[in-house]
Amino acid sequence: MAIATINPATGETVKTFDESSDEEVEAALALAVETFASYRLTSFAERAGWMRRAADLLDAEVETTAAMMTTEMGKTVASARQEVQKCAKACRFYAEHAERLLTDEPADASAVGARKAYARYQPLGPVLAIMPWNFPLWQAMRFAAPALMAGNVGLLKHASNVPQTALYMQDLFERAGFPRGAFQTLLVGSAKVEGILRDRRVVAATLTGSGPAGSAVASVAGDEIKKTVLELGGSDPFIVMPSADLARAARVAAVARTLNNGQSCIAAKRFIVHEAVADEFEQRFVEAMAALRVGDPMEDGTDIGPLATESQRQDVVELVGDAVAKGARVLCGGEVPGGAGWYYPPTILAGITPEMRVHTEELFGPVATLYRVADIDEAIELANATEFGLGSNAWTQDEEERARFVRDIEAGMVFINGNTTSYPDLPFGGVKTSGYGRELSAHGIREFCNLKTVWVG
Ligand code: NAP
Repeated sequence: MAIATINPATGETVKTFDESSDEEVEAALALAVETFASYRLTSFAERAGWMRRAADLLDAEVETTAAMMTTEMGKTVASARQEVQKCAKACRFYAEHAERLLTDEPADASAVGARKAYARYQPLGPVLAIMPWNFPLWQAMRFAAPALMAGNVGLLKHASNVPQTALYMQDLFERAGFPRGAFQTLLVGSAKVEGILRDRRVVAATLTGSGPAGSAVASVAGDEIKKTVLELGGSDPFIVMPSADLARAARVAAVARTLNNGQSCIAAKRFIVHEAVADEFEQRFVEAMAALRVGDPMEDGTDIGPLATESQRQDVVELVGDAVAKGARVLCGGEVPGGAGWYYPPTILAGITPEMRVHTEELFGPVATLYRVADIDEAIELANATEFGLGSNAWTQDEEERARFVRDIEAGMVFINGNTTSYPDLPFGGVKTSGYGRELSAHGIREFCNLKTVWVG
C-alpha cells in the first residue's frame, strides 16, 4: 500500500510520501537508543511538564488537527475534534498519575530474610508501535502517553493511509519539549516491520489492528522473545433484555454501531434482543439508524462520513451481499450510493444464520446484525459464539441479569446500560482473538516496564 493521503470523501490523492529509506530507519533506531540512555534518567516531573505542554498544543491545534484526520480517513470533523481533546486528556492523566502508578511496591522484607525488599517499575527501551488508521491520533496516543511517561522511547509505524497524522505525532512531542528521538515516526509499509522488530535495539512492540497483522507481528516477536501487546478486532454483542430502557437502548445502539462511520473495534456489531421486546426495539433501532445523516465529513451536521478506503467499503459490500444471498432481510440501508467517495449507508440486517459470513466475521462499517433470543442463556451463548472477545454491552434493569452478564460474557470489557468506550482511568483490551495485554489505566503504563525485584540484605 502506498504511503499517501487519499481523501475518502472524494477519492482524490491529496499527498504522497516517500517511504523512509533503510538509512533513515537505521538513523532513527540509533537515535532511539542514544536518546533512551539519557531519557530514562529524566524525572517524572520533567516528563510531566513536556506531556502537559503536548496536551496544551493539542487543545490549541484542535481545528487543524481534526481537519487533517478527516481528510486522511473520513471521520466526521466533530468526532475528530473529540478525538484530539480525548488525546489531550490522556496526556494530562498520565502526566498527573504516572509517578504514583509506577511507585515502588514494598514487600514484607522479614518474610524473605532481607532488610528491605520491593519491586520497581523501570522503562524497557525503544518500543515499536504499529497502529491503525481508524482513530489515527487516539490509538497512537494511548500508547505514547504512558510509554513516554514511563521513560520508554517510541517508534511509530502508522497505517499507510494516515501519514500526515503520523508525522504530526513526532512533531507534537518535539515541540512539547521531549528530547529529540524520544518519539519518532517511521514512514514504512508493513513489509518493513519484521526487519525493524527483529533489530536488537527494539525491545518490545504493540500493535492495534487486524488479527492477521497481530498474528504476523506476534510470531516475529515470539521468535525474538520480545514482549507484545495486541489490540485486535472485535464483534461486540449488544444485548437488550425486557427490563431495558428501550428508547435509550435503541438510541445508543445506533450511535454505538455507527461510531467512526462504523469503523471502531469496540463498536456494537451484533444486536441480540430478547423476543419479548424485539419488535419494539427493532422499530426504534431502524428509526434511529435511518435518521442518521450521511454526507460530507467536514460538515458539522454530518453523522456518518465515508469509509476510510475503497477496499474497506468493498469488504462491507461483499459481507452484506453474502448475507442477503443467503436470506438476510435488509431493514434499512444496504445500497451503495452513486457519486464520488466511499460512502455506505447505515444498514440493519435481520434473519442472520450461522452460514452467513457476517455471523462470524467482523463487519467494519455501519452495518448491524440483528438476532432474537428466548432468554438470557441463549443471549449469553450467542454473545460468546465468536472468536472475538473485546467489548460487550448489555441493557437490563435486573440486578441478577447484570451479574450474569458480568460473570459469563467472554470479553475484556462489559458495559451495562451504556456504550462501550475507553477512559484513561480504565483498562482497555480483549481476550480470545481480540488480543492480549491492556492499554490505559495503571495496567497500560506497566505493560512496557521491567518490574525489577530488589532485595537488600
Ligand atoms: P491492519 O490492516 O491490521 O493495519 C493495522 C496496522 O498494522 C497498520 O499500520 C498496517 O500497516 C500494519 N500491518 C498490516 N499487516 C501487517 C503485517 N503483516 N505485519 C506488520 N504490520 C502490518 O488493520 P486496519 O484495517 O488498519 O484496522 C482495522 C482493524 O483494527 C480492525 O480489525 C479493528 O477491529 C482493529 N482495531 C482494534 C482496536 C483495539 O483496540 N482492539 C482498535 C482499533 C482497530 P499498513 O497500513 O502499512 O498496511
